[in-house]
Amino acid sequence: MSINRRHFINLSSLGIAGFTLQGFANKTNNIIIKPIVIATWDAGLNANKGAWEVLSKGGSALDAVEKGVMVTEDEISCCVGLGANPDRDGHVTLDASIMDHEFNCGSVAFLERIKHPISVARKVMEKTPHVMLVGEGAQQFALSEGFKLEPNVLSEDAKKAYEKWLKKSTYKPVINVERSTNPNAQLDEKYKAPYKLDNGNWNHDTIGMVALDANGNLSGSCTTSGAGFKLRGRVGDSPVIGAGLYVDNEVGAVVATGQGEDVIRVAGASAVVEYMRQGKSPQEACKLVVEKIRKIKKEKAADIQVCFIALNKKGEHGSFALHTGFNYAVHTSDGNKLLESPFSI
Ligand code: ASP
Repeated sequence: MSINRRHFINLSSLGIAGFTLQGFANKTNNIIIKPIVIATWDAGLNANKGAWEVLSKGGSALDAVEKGVMVTEDEISCCVGLGANPDRDGHVTLDASIMDHEFNCGSVAFLERIKHPISVARKVMEKTPHVMLVGEGAQQFALSEGFKLEPNVLSEDAKKAYEKWLKKSTYKPVINVERSTNPNAQLDEKYKAPYKLDNGNWNHDTIGMVALDANGNLSGSCTTSGAGFKLRGRVGDSPVIGAGLYVDNEVGAVVATGQGEDVIRVAGASAVVEYMRQGKSPQEACKLVVEKIRKIKKEKAADIQVCFIALNKKGEHGSFALHTGFNYAVHTSDGNKLLESPFSI
C-alpha cells in the first residue's frame, strides 16, 4: 500500500478542530440516535450525503449503505472504483462487501471492469446461495445480472501513478502512517494538508460505511481497490465478512480500513462487535482490537495503519486508529461532520 494512496486532513484548516468525538458520542445517554450513518475518511462526507437521501426518507440502512458508497465508486480516486490505482500488472481489481440486519451478506473480490462492485456484492447476497464470488466468476455473474463491462483503461491519475511506480517497481507496501512518535519520519509536504489530485478530486481510501435506520436496523458496506500496485490476485480485508465488515443487529456494525492483512488476522470487525456486546463503547471496542494488532505486530506496528469505525444499536459511534491521520464522517439530522479519530501511536 503506497503512501500515495493516502492523505491527511488538517481538521483545524476545516474549522472543526473544537469538535470532540467524545462530546458527540456521549450526548446520547438513553436516547437512540437514528437514523445515523458514518463512513471512513473525508470521502465519507459525500458518501454520507448519498446514504442520507435514503435514510432521511425512512429508507432502509441496507439501501442507504449501498447508495452511499456508490457515490465514492463514481468518484475518481486512488483507492476506490475503476479510476483507482492498478495492481502491479496494470489492472484495477476491486473488492467489496455488504451486510444487512439479518446476517445476510455478500461480497466480491478481484473483480475487474465493473463500475459498482458494491451492487454486485448485494446481488451475490440476494440472488445466490453464496457469500463470496471472485475474479472471472464474479465478473461473469455481474454480466449475467445486467452489469456493463467497462473498458480496460486506467484513469489519468492512475496511469500517472502507475508509470511512476513502474520506474522502480518495488513491492513494499508503505501505508498512511504519519509517524507522530517516530523521529525518523519524513512526511511528504502534501500530506500535511488536505490533498487533492490533479483533477481536483480528493485523494482518499477504502470507503466503509455503517448505518442505523429509522426502524432501528443496522447494515454496512465496504468497497475498495485494495492496496495500490499489489500482487496480482491479492485480496484484502474489505470483502472478507468478519474482517473488513461485520453487522450484528443486536449489538452494532463495524467497518475497517488500513492494512487488510492485519485486519484479517484478528477477524477485526467481528472482534470489535464482540467487545461492544460485552458492554464496551464503540470507541473502546475499536481501541481494544487496534491495540491487539499493535501487540501482534510489535515494532512493525510503526509501518502499518489500521482503523475501525463502529456504530451501536443506540446510534452511538466511535473509532480508533493505530496512527494519527484517520478521520471519519458522521451524518445525523444535525448535519454531516468530519471527525478526527483517536489513535494509539
Ligand atoms: N483495507 C484495504 C485493503 O487492505 C485497504 C485500505 O483500507 O486502504 O485492501
